[in-house]
Amino acid sequence: MQSSACPPGNVTKRNGRNVASVKDNKQLDAEEAQHLGEHPLSPPADEFDVIVVGAGWAGLYAIYELRRRGHSVYGFEAGAGVGGAWYHNRYPGARCDVESLEYSFSFDEGLQQEWHWTETYARQPEIRAYMNHVANRFELRRSIQLNTFVKSAVWDEEADRWTVTASTGDVVRARYVLLGVGGLSTILKPQIPGYDSFAGQIYFTANWPSEPVDFTGKRVGVIGTGSSGVQSIPVIAETAKHLTVFQRTPNYVMPSASAPMDPDYEAEWKAHYAEKRAFARHQSSNGINQPVIQRKTMDTPPEERERIYQELWDRGGLWILRSFSDILTDPEANKQAGAFVERKIADIVKDPKTAQLLTPKGYYFATKRLCTGTGYYETFNRDNVSLVDVGRDTGGIHRIEPGGIVTDEGLTELDIIVFATGFDAVTGSFTAIDIHGVGGRTLKDHWKDGAKTYLGMFAAGFPNLFLIGAPGNPGSVGNAVVALEMNIEWIAQLLDKVRAEGARRLEAEPAAEESWSEHVSELGWKTLYPTNPNSWYVGANVPGKKRQFLPYVGGFSRYDKEISEVAARGYEGISID
Ligand code: NAP
Repeated sequence: MQSSACPPGNVTKRNGRNVASVKDNKQLDAEEAQHLGEHPLSPPADEFDVIVVGAGWAGLYAIYELRRRGHSVYGFEAGAGVGGAWYHNRYPGARCDVESLEYSFSFDEGLQQEWHWTETYARQPEIRAYMNHVANRFELRRSIQLNTFVKSAVWDEEADRWTVTASTGDVVRARYVLLGVGGLSTILKPQIPGYDSFAGQIYFTANWPSEPVDFTGKRVGVIGTGSSGVQSIPVIAETAKHLTVFQRTPNYVMPSASAPMDPDYEAEWKAHYAEKRAFARHQSSNGINQPVIQRKTMDTPPEERERIYQELWDRGGLWILRSFSDILTDPEANKQAGAFVERKIADIVKDPKTAQLLTPKGYYFATKRLCTGTGYYETFNRDNVSLVDVGRDTGGIHRIEPGGIVTDEGLTELDIIVFATGFDAVTGSFTAIDIHGVGGRTLKDHWKDGAKTYLGMFAAGFPNLFLIGAPGNPGSVGNAVVALEMNIEWIAQLLDKVRAEGARRLEAEPAAEESWSEHVSELGWKTLYPTNPNSWYVGANVPGKKRQFLPYVGGFSRYDKEISEVAARGYEGISID
């Protein structure tokens, strides 16, 4: 473990001062390569207490916490390094829109004190460096087999164990399986005719190479204007000869709020970390240290409303969501906030036709994941940037040809196409594994008429299986790190109890799963979120996927209270044998 006398992983001494360094992905690859020898190439045993799938936030913490409590734990990770989404999503401009000081682990005081973030909102390489540091500091690598995709997990009713089969041919058995596979990790590759015929280069934001991609002098097309597209478009535009953005649905884009880390701000946070972490978990709506707002939109005079919106727009990031308490529940309140941003678009974008096209229509503000961008709207004022409407009332992208992309506007000639087309979100990475529970029933089949879980962590008929970041969990509408820490600690405590009682099997009761899922849906319908038919929150981006509002939107504090009460009532809804 790290000695406190040495500067921690990302800190070097310069002129006698500690300076946090930021490495690029190539340097991080090289650094990680030095640790490759610590990763096992095959499982050291046939059987473990817990198999952890994924070595992103959830997997890293689960391995740490369950190992610490004396379980034998082994992890499989599909990527060639740790970090999950932050390992793969290396696209230009990638940055988190939750503040670094809280988009980080809270479980170890030494870790949270020693790590220095260089910016208030970290870029992808810095988050990846942090996750590497965590893996090194807590010696997690020895429990993680890289380059290994878990293909299947089959429940053995006789033995009360899972048999897990990996892409490498490894087969192991485990009492428990924890899926830390990430709600945003199964890449969506749109089925566009002619895809394979393209003569240029194709990149996916969610699987970006380490080598920098050189756009200089190139005609580039970006498909997709969600968070990944919005962040990468301004950066690509800086060097591309010409950038064409293919937009299906315009998004509301807030200005990114990042700034160099102020040492006083950092010191203040670190002095009060315990309170701030507790607030995020037990009192906040979104796992973030933002005040819970009581004021209502229409009770506030118009000039005062405008002043509040402006102040939060200037503050940047997702702060506008903290303007009024009813922004996502009252249609009129929502329209006021949306109209403010729409006026901003009209002010910033010089060409009225482009401004019109960039203006969201037909859905409530922020019911599609709100984006943050650095100079996003301004980018469309550049001479080398154009916007093509491929919305649902157009013919969309007709096809890809060797020379480019064909839409209603004809052929756009391209050298590079960037797909920023998102993920089979929330459920896709769970159903990508062939999971057979009681009676051989697959998870895919269990969820075919709609995904359901108990507490966002269990599926009935799938004993001893833990889902992190699954449907019915608040992680996808707030600070995911807070949500997964809550879940993993809750599961770890449950396992302590199960072990103390000598039990072998725990399983969510179908009625408990049913009522939790109804509860999640009811909470959803108290808001405007489910009214939006075109968001990954409802699975709309995946052709054929059941439309259903998936996240728990009752708030982090309420979720924390609800799962704590379930535990206090002896893990009500879970049969333990
Ligand atoms: P996304 O939000 O799902 O955006 C995908 C984009 O691709 C959408 O604009 C979508 O249009 C478009 N698209 C998909 N298929 C298409 C097709 N066949 N033709 C034309 N357009 C198509 O995915 P994402 O941008 O990768 O972001 C996913 C989530 O990851 C975010 O919502 C966020 O939660 C997280 N994320 C966070 C950050 C951050 O912290 N700042 C950064 C990146 C990602 P439609 O909207 O019409 O479906």
